[in-house]
Amino acid sequence: MSQRSNAADKKLKQAIDARMAVESARKHQVDILCDFTAKLSLSCKGLDIELDNRLAKFRSALNMSFENISPLISETLTLLKNQESVQQTQQRDLFNNVQNAGKQLQKTKGLPDETRRSLRNLLDNEINNVHSVHGYIPLLDQLISFYHQALITKQDPVIDKKLPTVQSHANKLLELANELVLEDEATQQINHIKNSITASKTITALLDAAISIIDVVVKNISKERKSAQSFLVSLNQTLEDLHNSIISTSKHSESMEVEFDSLNKSIELKIKNLNEQTQKATSISSLKELVDNELKSLSEDFIAKEKLERKDREMLSSSFNEINKRIGTLEGKLTTYKKRLNEQRFKSLLDGLTKLPNRAAFDERYDHEMHLFNVQPSDVTLAVIDVDHFKSVNDRFGHTAGDITLQVISKALQKSVRKSDFIARYGGEEFVLLMPGVSLENATLPLDKVRKVIKNIPFKFKDKQIEITISIGATQFKKGDTLLKAFDRADDALYDAKNSGRDRLCTSK
Ligand code: GH3
Ligand code: MG
Ligand code: MG
Repeated sequence: MSQRSNAADKKLKQAIDARMAVESARKHQVDILCDFTAKLSLSCKGLDIELDNRLAKFRSALNMSFENISPLISETLTLLKNQESVQQTQQRDLFNNVQNAGKQLQKTKGLPDETRRSLRNLLDNEINNVHSVHGYIPLLDQLISFYHQALITKQDPVIDKKLPTVQSHANKLLELANELVLEDEATQQINHIKNSITASKTITALLDAAISIIDVVVKNISKERKSAQSFLVSLNQTLEDLHNSIISTSKHSESMEVEFDSLNKSIELKIKNLNEQTQKATSISSLKELVDNELKSLSEDFIAKEKLERKDREMLSSSFNEINKRIGTLEGKLTTYKKRLNEQRFKSLLDGLTKLPNRAAFDERYDHEMHLFNVQPSDVTLAVIDVDHFKSVNDRFGHTAGDITLQVISKALQKSVRKSDFIARYGGEEFVLLMPGVSLENATLPLDKVRKVIKNIPFKFKDKQIEITISIGATQFKKGDTLLKAFDRADDALYDAKNSGRDRLCTSK
């Protein structure tokens, strides 16, 4: 009996243990599930205040043995359902907003190519693969960075070194400004504008500078026109005065002639009369009386005639003086004008930056030398000089430093060539040298000396000692040459000098 009851006890205990194990496992699972549900509910936090409240209650109900949890669950479910449609609307709105913002950005000018490509990919592909509000976060992130880049480009396009437009436009504008030949005041204004071009970092600043240049030029032209006009007006006035003087002189002469005529006629008549009377005279006394009277009257006529002649001479001489004076004024005006024209012409043949003869001056001289050579061949050497790696001077130390460098080089070039040589700035950082009377053979030594002179100039920028070198290509005029042929030969030689390491002289026969 006791053996059976023992066995039954044991079975019961086993059953209880098994049941407890199941319950404990169950409780553990429920705990994990509750924990997970609570965490999951937290991830919904922030979507909607009402939902947040319900979920908070839901989480505390999970902790308190699910007390009143059913109604909470059904309320929360309703709210979650609402949330779904809210999210759909938000997603649609986000799609539209990202699309619009992206398209707007595409219309912006000056966006870097790379950014433009990524933006197109975002709008055409990436946006269509997003299926949740959260999915838009990386897209929005990208879009913001694109906007950021667009903003930087707009504020300062020069920051992007891949955009050389501002620099190249500035160079072109500077070249044009260098070619302007204006009177002193305008030249100063242009120099001022040139400084601002060098400092320009944006197209707008360049545009401002270009407008300022046009303004100065237009004002200068109208000033020139006014001064030419007033010169012509005064020239006209002087010519008119001259004309009037001559007319009045000739009128005076005409009236004098009439007076002379009548005096002469009266004298003639009196002599004729005297002659007749003399012959008729019968006695000496009557003859004497007659002669006395007639001679008296005749001498009065002669005195009148002499007076008239003197008056005429005086009038004429004062007239001529007047005319001479006017001609003098005219000559003075013409001389001033000629001088001004010559000055203009002289200035137009000088390069504004370096004060060396410019390309126009070179062309004139080159043409002249070639003409002389064709008439009577002689030794003439032509050299083309180009500064080595000059762009890097601008890039490293700025355009103003570049300008000063060109001025220093120009001075040194001018100093180191002979008086009979002709050196000009051909453009940019290129110079040309004509050496009349010097053969190519005899030119190599002095040309190489010029090269060394430039190399030895102690340039110093931003406390850095810099060596600047030049390459030279030279040739000699030869039979059958044209301007172009000789220049091409010198240019080819320069090309050789550049390609064989720069800082050297190459020649071409
Ligand atoms: P290379 O040795 O091959 O001649 O190289 P480089 O850099 O000298 O030649 P490149 O033709 O590439 O560049 C010439 C540079 O000269 C570019 C231009 O900005 C500069 N330059 C031309 N005219 C002026 C000027 O009046 N002032 C300044 N500062 N720079 C100028
Ligand atoms: Mg060059
Ligand atoms: Mg160069």
